[in-house]
Amino acid sequence: MTDTAIPAIPASTAGTGLQITGLNKVFRSGRRSVVALQDADLHTDRGAFLSLLGPSGCGKSTILRILAGLEEPTSGTILVDGHSPEDLRRENRLGIAFQDAALLPWRSVQANIQLPFEVAGRAVDRDYVRELIDLVGLTGFEKARPAQLSGGMRQRVSIARSLVLKPDVLLFDEPFGALDDMTRQRLNLELLRIWTEKPATTLLVTHGISEAIFLSDKVAVMSPRPGRVKAVMDIDLPRPRTPELMRTPEFHAYVDQASELLFGGGDDER
Ligand code: ADP
Ligand code: MG
Repeated sequence: MTDTAIPAIPASTAGTGLQITGLNKVFRSGRRSVVALQDADLHTDRGAFLSLLGPSGCGKSTILRILAGLEEPTSGTILVDGHSPEDLRRENRLGIAFQDAALLPWRSVQANIQLPFEVAGRAVDRDYVRELIDLVGLTGFEKARPAQLSGGMRQRVSIARSLVLKPDVLLFDEPFGALDDMTRQRLNLELLRIWTEKPATTLLVTHGISEAIFLSDKVAVMSPRPGRVKAVMDIDLPRPRTPELMRTPEFHAYVDQASELLFGGGDDER
């Protein structure tokens, strides 16, 4: 295989942005089966920020893993700008960061961030690696090993690494889920700034109501057993968004609406 320009994949007629249609996923082991996802439909515009919000077990990671090409759907389709997960993966158009930063412990910050170039067989763009290190606020730590960093710093490395191949699609699965609230809030602000500077169609999995609303254009509220999209909220708040926004009545109204969808009444078992 030659390392030349990426061939253009003919886009289907499915439109741009994220298009999830009738997506189902059933996990079977022996005679038991779990409906991880039932009839999920989600559509966003190209470059939009979508969050999947819901309690544990409602199929959030399943959607993300199907989009990442790590799981096959049982039925239904998922496309970004008309491209299948396999295409996106093959063409290195996906950037992914999980809750566990999953850094190589023997590699420096810089060497971890440049890893995707090596895996893709591309020449390392050192200037861009430096720019990203600056973007995530780690200038001065280029030579540090993961063990020398705080949890928040390790997640910054992971986010920089997800951006290094200039992906069209960013997938974040609770990237700050293991961090304390203050660090998490700070990194959400950072994430917003980074996303504004490096726009991509983005899917964030979270169980944080405020962060989902603060960051997103759309929030899909999900419920478990079976995993379903209960409602999709359009977050019509102005950008650029600043922390002050979180103290406005409009913001609180969205938080109340999401809480009602998640916890309010209905016939959900308690
Ligand atoms: P979430 O990310 O919202 O917590 P998941 O998408 O991880 O939820 O899981 C949805 C459901 O599917 C859960 O009931 C989970 O136990 C089940 N599940 C996920 N992955 C597997 C798997 N590989 N095998 C069997 N069941 C799974
Ligand atoms: Mg999950």
